[in-house]
Order: sequence, then structure tokens, then C-alpha cells
Amino acid sequence: TNDQLGKWDRENFFHPSTHLGQFARGEAAQRVVTGGEGVHITDRDGNRLLDGFAGLYCVNVGYGRQEIAEAIAAQARELAYYHAYAGHGSEASITLSKMVMDRAPDHMARVYFGLGGSDANETNIKLIWYYNNILGRPQKKKIISRWRGYHGSGLMTGSLTGLELFHRKFDLPLEQVIHTEAPYYFRRPDAAMSEAQFTAHCVAELEALIAREGADTIAAFIGEPVLGTGGIVPPPAGYWPAIQEVLDRHDILLVADEVVTGFGRLGTMFGSDHYGMRPDLITSAKGLTSAYAPLSASIVSQRMWDVLARGTDENGVLGHGWTYSAHPIGAAAGIANLKLIDELGLVENAGTTGRYLQDQMQAALGDHPNVGEVRGEGMLCAVELVADRDSRRFFEASEGKGAKVVAAMLERGVIARAMPQGDILGFAPPLCLTREEADTIVSVTRDAVAAVLG
Ligand code: PLP
Repeated sequence: TNDQLGKWDRENFFHPSTHLGQFARGEAAQRVVTGGEGVHITDRDGNRLLDGFAGLYCVNVGYGRQEIAEAIAAQARELAYYHAYAGHGSEASITLSKMVMDRAPDHMARVYFGLGGSDANETNIKLIWYYNNILGRPQKKKIISRWRGYHGSGLMTGSLTGLELFHRKFDLPLEQVIHTEAPYYFRRPDAAMSEAQFTAHCVAELEALIAREGADTIAAFIGEPVLGTGGIVPPPAGYWPAIQEVLDRHDILLVADEVVTGFGRLGTMFGSDHYGMRPDLITSAKGLTSAYAPLSASIVSQRMWDVLARGTDENGVLGHGWTYSAHPIGAAAGIANLKLIDELGLVENAGTTGRYLQDQMQAALGDHPNVGEVRGEGMLCAVELVADRDSRRFFEASEGKGAKVVAAMLERGVIARAMPQGDILGFAPPLCLTREEADTIVSVTRDAVAAVLG
């Protein structure tokens, strides 16, 4: 029964990103999700909800795709597992490596498969350290990330994450990680700054940090093309080319964390293509399999690959790998998923229907006195709530306005995400979203904002 499941859940299950005490005492929400079709999920209580966040921005092709389920089942029957160490491969993982590299920017050379975004970023940082050690510059180790960046929850990746919640009481960040300004124009330090001036300000902050720390101690800069969990914030105009120029000048590698943006979400295959970034490493996960099975990809550039290969010539086998690296079932899911993305034209739809969603949201809410900004890129959209529009005064965190609007939306059948820092309503629907479904998201958001804020 539902009651029994609820009790087992509270007594046994230690959920991620959950208020543990409240949950165990039965004071927090529980939902047992039982099915999904297209952009909708269903739960055990009989609710059918439009998932405006594609799970955790990952179910990009939508729920219930039988092609992927069949591919997973066929792979499990044929070969559920063999490891990928010492040159072993499965047909699925080799085929997927070819498909990923065919889609990656031209200067990328090889892909390493892991399980999720956090482990892919851990891999990338280790590869960067290995690279600098092989090049004989062991002091070049620090990694720059941005405040409000999200890069995972491990020891290194939780350190890279620039959200205080992920550091609190964990003794993070680790000392090799340093943070710089978030490219968040709406929250610019001076309201009079133009977008171009704000970009120049972010670049100057980065230059100052590099000068303070010493370029010879800094290995890499990591950033999401569009800040995701930190608030769904597209960069100000000219940001990435300007940052890239600074990094090139100081011989600092760029990691594009494309866990959210990879495989189509911005209306291009990768966000790096979208913004003209030239990364040395790309981190990818979520959209690689649309979350039908866990799989991540660390994609390395030719210039890094050459040094890594030389490193193993000099030092023996690369001492890095997981039991489940390149898991055949994940790879089978990835192949079926990438085929579907192509067949259904989902990269293009992310661009066009995503733009439609943003435009409709702007038309419905752009003039509301408590909406400071509607923003987005591709199939990513955010509505930032403010106490006062003109002075850009924010609500007190304790008021929980964003969470209240999201709860009011849920009552009306649509899932949005209250982003963890600030009163920001986040939207990242499956890339197969239709205009009618976008209209539903917008009208429910408008009604919920009216119900909570007037
Ligand atoms: N990087 C980015 C940009 C993410 O959004 C996430 C997860 O949301 C991660 C890394 C971590 O991925 P995972 O949760 O699969 O470890």
C-alpha cells in the first residue's frame, strides 16, 4: 500500500539532496513515481504531471521511449557487462564512442566513459593534473570555477561547485579550487553597467585572480556554457570569447561542463559550438542517454590526448578507471538515444520550441511587478522573482517565495524547479516539448505566480 511504502521509505531510504530529519519524521513530501510518457510522469497517487524539468534536466527525449528500452533489454540479454580495462570493449561502447566523436567539436580526439556528471568531472581534473605532470610543471594545479557554477557533489567536484550549500559542513572547497565572479548580468554589482561593461568586469576579475595566484599555479578554468543549477543564467554578450582569450594567453586549459547543455539542449549539439568556446575537455552525461541508463563522457582534445598517450608510454598504464566505465547497457541506451535525437530533430526543436517557451513566458510574466527577469537559451528558461523590480531588491530567503510558486504549480499539474539559490523558477523540459505543452507550462506559471504573489 502507499502507507507501507511511505513508512519503508522514511525508515530505510537515505535520499540525496533531502532535508533528512524532516523526511524521517514524515514532515516532508514523498512521491513514488511509477511511469512516464512523453513529457508527463505519473505517480502512485494517480497524479499525472507535466515535467517541466525533464527529471533533473536529463530526460531529453522524453519518457517511455520504447526504442531505448528495447535496446537496453537486447544488450542485457546479449552481454549485460564486461569491463573496458586493458583495451576490452563491447560493440555498444565502441559504436557509441564513434557516435560521440562524430558529434563533438573537430579539435576533440577521444572519449572516456564513466557513469555520471560528477565522476566525469573528477576524471577531467585528474587528466589535467596528469597532463601538467607529464609536461613537467607539477606546480600548475589550481582549478578556477565560478561562483554559482555546478559541477557535481564529490570532494573535488563539490569543491568546484560554487554554491555554498554544497560546501557547508563538508570542509569544502579543497585548497586547489578557487572561485571567480559568476557571469550573472541581472545580479551585476552596479545597475548602470551595460552588458558589455559587465563582461569586461568579469574578465577583469578573472585577470586579477590569475595575477594574485600566479598563472604558473593555475591549470584550468571550468564553466558551464550556461550556468545551470546556479540559476539558469546565459552568459552576457561576448563572455566566452573574452574568457577564452585570457585563458589562452595564460596557458590555462578550459573545461566546458556540458552535463546539461551537451547533446542538444541549447539548440546546438554542444554549448561549446553555440558560444564559440574551444575547450580542452568537455564533460557530458545526462543528455548522452537521456538518463535511461547512467553514462557520462569525458571528451579530450587532440593536444591533451597527445600528452596523455606519451605519459603512459613513459609511466605505464593510466591509473584511472571504474568497474562500470563504458558499461554496455549505458552504451546501448546512448546509441538508441542519439539516434532518436537525430530522427526526431530534437536539437532543432530545442532551439525553436525553447525560444517559443521563453517568448511566451516573457509575454505572460515579463510585466509582473515581482518578476525581475525572464531569461533562457534553447530549452532552458528561468523566471527570477524579486520583491521590487525597480531597485532589484530580492525577497528574504526565509520567505521561500520561489518554493511556494513551485508548490502552487505542482498543485496545477506542472513540475518546475525552485533553483537552490535565490527565488528562481527553473524550466528545462524534455527537448521534444510541443508548443501546446509550452503553453501549459506558461499558463500554469502565470496562475501560480498570481496565486502566491498577487
Ligand atoms: N555538471 C553539471 C553542469 C550538472 O548540472 C550536474 C548535475 O546536475 C553535474 C555536473 C553532476 O552530474 P551528476 O549529478 O550526474 O553527478
